[in-house]
Parts: sequence; structure tokens; C-alpha cells
Amino acid sequence: MQLAKYSMGVGDRFAHQGKAQLAAMMQALSLGVEVVPVWNKSNREHQIIGTRPESVRREADRAVQSLGWDRPYHVDADHIGLKTVDAFLAASDFFTIDVADFTGKPVGEEEIRAFTAGRSRYAGLLDIPGLDSPLEISMAAIENTARKYLLAVRQAGEIYRYICRAKGTEDFIAEVSMDETDLAQTPVELLFILSAIAEEGIPAQTIAPKFSGRFNKGVDYVGDLSRFEKEFCEDLAVIAFAVREFGLPANLKLSVHSGSDKFSIYGPMQKALRRFDAGVHLKTAGTTWLEELIGLAMAGGEGLAMAREVYAGAYQRYEEMAGPYATVIDIHREKLPRPEAVNGWSPEQYAGALRHDPACPEFNLHFRQLLHVGYKVAAEMGERFLHALDRYEETIARQVTENILERHLKRLFL
Ligand SMILES: [Zn+2]
Repeated sequence: MQLAKYSMGVGDRFAHQGKAQLAAMMQALSLGVEVVPVWNKSNREHQIIGTRPESVRREADRAVQSLGWDRPYHVDADHIGLKTVDAFLAASDFFTIDVADFTGKPVGEEEIRAFTAGRSRYAGLLDIPGLDSPLEISMAAIENTARKYLLAVRQAGEIYRYICRAKGTEDFIAEVSMDETDLAQTPVELLFILSAIAEEGIPAQTIAPKFSGRFNKGVDYVGDLSRFEKEFCEDLAVIAFAVREFGLPANLKLSVHSGSDKFSIYGPMQKALRRFDAGVHLKTAGTTWLEELIGLAMAGGEGLAMAREVYAGAYQRYEEMAGPYATVIDIHREKLPRPEAVNGWSPEQYAGALRHDPACPEFNLHFRQLLHVGYKVAAEMGERFLHALDRYEETIARQVTENILERHLKRLFL
């Protein structure tokens, strides 16, 4: 099973927007670019909402059948480890193997020495096609990479082989993810991580490093754009080199776990992808859930009341909602509107504060981030919330499709 050149991970927390999401990919296809949808939902989301991976598979299959999508599509076991993978085995054909917890923990000194010595030929100035200047690689850098990442790659191998055994097949897509770590991986580190992945025998088709800068949930990138662009280009060059050098799958590509809506890096990414003729997997998650809220608000009446109620609940239970996401949000609590104020907002005010249009004077990124992580409130409403999604389906679907097509697919791929 081969992952296409361009793919987009879409999250669908309540398994109601598969069709609306796929409609965006179909429109992109008619505009000339194939972007394959990958439905992803993490174990954390499943636990908070109280769902199982089969529901993601069902919604994906249903969307594909009802719209007649005849291109590939996948269901991603998002950020799994040995402890969580079992529930995802049957429903998934894409596995994001998350070994971030194993980074920074060294293997034995002897293994580190052997790894480093085996790669001494790369020390010095390494000319990599596509780069303006050669990579500077010291023996210490190789050794440090082994110290920081070798155990994590070994663990990824263990998980990969476990999935093969449990599924009874190697016919699935494997991604290795290290994005949920404290420090970004440099291109030199990425090179030796890929070398270790090849040695471990993992046929990774995507790799998700952590990039420098902040990737907060639901809001734009915060960081030095020119630095990001340089790093991204270097990563692309390193991957192309590693594919040839280490014999990794020819379609190996970067997976950008964006935490949704990193609009300002789309331009530099697009430029770099063209320059290197490279593919990419762009993963987004909560952006669709926020469009559901915008759709509810814009529907007015009961929909608006429910959107206000979700905010009030998230506001009152701030610590509980924000806690699990503390490292990936940046909310200034004094900038959050009080629920009493929000209860007086019109549909346009609510949508304007939430919709990701930083140029809009009503846009409030603190309000947006809190709602991004506040989906547990809606999950607890149970049937009442799902019923509202059905009742206002048309208004909501329009927001969902437009968001993915206009703000994501067009900006990155077209
Ligand atoms: Zn991630």
C-alpha cells in the first residue's frame, strides 16, 4: 500500500463531516490536484469523546461511497504506541507510530558507539543535492543523535513489527512521529534518524519531525518564517538523499503535524515542495470541529444557543479542558470573553470571533484555542449535540468544505 504524493490528514471528532471534508478534496481534484484524505483521530480524542476507531472507518467508508470517490483514502491510527495500538488494528491502514516518549532516553553506550562508528563516513562536509551549502556534520552530532533518538527508533521498530504480526500483513502505511517532543530535530538529526529507521527495517512512508517554532492548536504558526523555510528545505533534501542512501521507500515524505491552520507556513512549504518535487502529508485535526461550531452559530436559534453553551462550559472548566493540551496552546485568560458576553453575541459575532481569519477585527485567537480543546463539553451533550449536527447539516457542511478547500488545499497545493 503506497501513500500518494499529496495527502491531508483530516480530523472529524464527531464522525459527522466525512462527506463535507471529502467534498473539498473532490473540488481540489477538479481543479487539478489529487490530495488523498486520511481520516485521523487519536487515542486521546477517542477517550475524551468516548468513541472507538471503528466509527472513523465507518464514516470514511460512508463518505467515500456516497460521493463516489475512486481515489485512495486511509484511516490513521493517530499517535499510537504499544499500549494503545490494539483498538486501532482492524479499523486502520495507516499507523502514526509515536515514539516521542522514548526520545532523549539513551540506549547502551556500546550501541551508541557502534552506531556512531558505522556512520563516520558522513562526518565533515556532506554535499546533499538541492542544498545551497553542504551540511556540516561532526562525529559529536552523530553520537548525540544516537543518544537522543536511537532508543525511540528501536521502539518504533518494535511497534511496527507488532502491527505486522497482529494484522498478519505488512500492507499498511507506517509513519514515525517525533513531533510531540520539546526540541525540534535538526536536518542533521533527521538524517541519522532516517538511517536508524532504515537499519531497523521500518518501511516508513512518512516521518513527522518537530519543526522549530510554535505549532499551537488551531491558530497560526508562531516563529521565524525564514528559518522554518530553510529547515523545511533541508529536511526535504535530507529525505531525498536518505531514500537513495539508505534504501528507504521511494515515496517517503514529510508529515507536518500542524495542529491545524498553520497558514503562514503554507507559502514557504509550497515553494519548497515545488523546488524539490516532493510530496507531503499535511495533518490537521480540530479545524473541522471549529467549523461545526461556526455552522451551529450561523444557523441561529437552537444552533447558536448550543454554540454559546459549549463556550460557557469550556470557560467554566478551563483547567480540565486546557490541561491535556497545555504544551500546545497559548491562551491569555484575560483575553477570553465572559460567557455572559458571548450569550449576547449575534451569529456573525460568534462566527467572526471563531473563524480563522486573523484580518477580521472580531477574530479572537484565545477564544478559538479554548474552543479547539473544549470538545469534551460537546461530547458530554451526547445525542443533543449530534442531533444538532444533523439538523444544521447543510449550514455546517458548507463551512467545513469551504474551510478545507479555501484555507488549506488551495493555499498549499494549488
Ligand atoms: Zn502529532
